[in-house]
Amino acid sequence: MSRLDSVIRRLTAQRDILDSLAEALKGVPGPILELGLGNGRTYDHLRELFPGRRIIAFDRHAHSFAQSTPDPEDMVLGEIRETIRAFVGSDAAMAHADIGTGHDDLDAETLTWLPDAMAGVLRPGGLAVSGLPLPHSLLVELPVPAGIPDGRYFLYRRA
Ligand code: SAM
Repeated sequence: MSRLDSVIRRLTAQRDILDSLAEALKGVPGPILELGLGNGRTYDHLRELFPGRRIIAFDRHAHSFAQSTPDPEDMVLGEIRETIRAFVGSDAAMAHADIGTGHDDLDAETLTWLPDAMAGVLRPGGLAVSGLPLPHSLLVELPVPAGIPDGRYFLYRRA
C-alpha cells in the first residue's frame, strides 16, 4: 500500500469513527480533548459534530489554520505528556489522540504514558479514540465501524 493510500485510510477511519460517536456522546457530559491539534482538520470536524461542546486542543506547536484554531483558553501548548497532567480527573466525555508518527521508536515512547493519560482524563463511560493502541485495564476496547481495517484506528470506553 502506498503512503498516500495509508493516509487516506487513516483519515477515513478518523472521520468514520468520530461520526459514529455523535449520537452516543449526546448523553455523556464533559469536554472533548483533542490531543494533537495539527492543522486543525479533526478539530474542525469535532466542532461540527458537537456544537456547543467545549473542545480543548493540545499540541507542542500552534500551527493550525486560522479558522481551525481554538480560543486561547482552549489551546494547551507544550508536550502533552506534561500538559495533560493538569487535566487528569477532568471527566472528559471523549479524548481523541492523533499523535502517532509511524516511527516505532517514537510511538513506543508515547505508549509509555498515553494509555494512562487517556484513562485519567475520561469520565467513566467516556470514549477514547486513538491512532495508537491504548492497552489499559480501565479502557475497554470497542468495535470500530464496519469497513475500518483492524489496527488502523482504535476505540475504547472508560470503565
Ligand atoms: N488530527 C490533526 C488534524 O486533523 O489536523 C493532525 C494531528 S498531527 C498528525 C499530530 C500533531 O500532534 C502534530 O501537530 C504534533 O505537533 C502534535 N504532537 C505529537 N506528539 C505530541 C506530543 N507528545 N506533545 C505535543 N504535541 C504532539
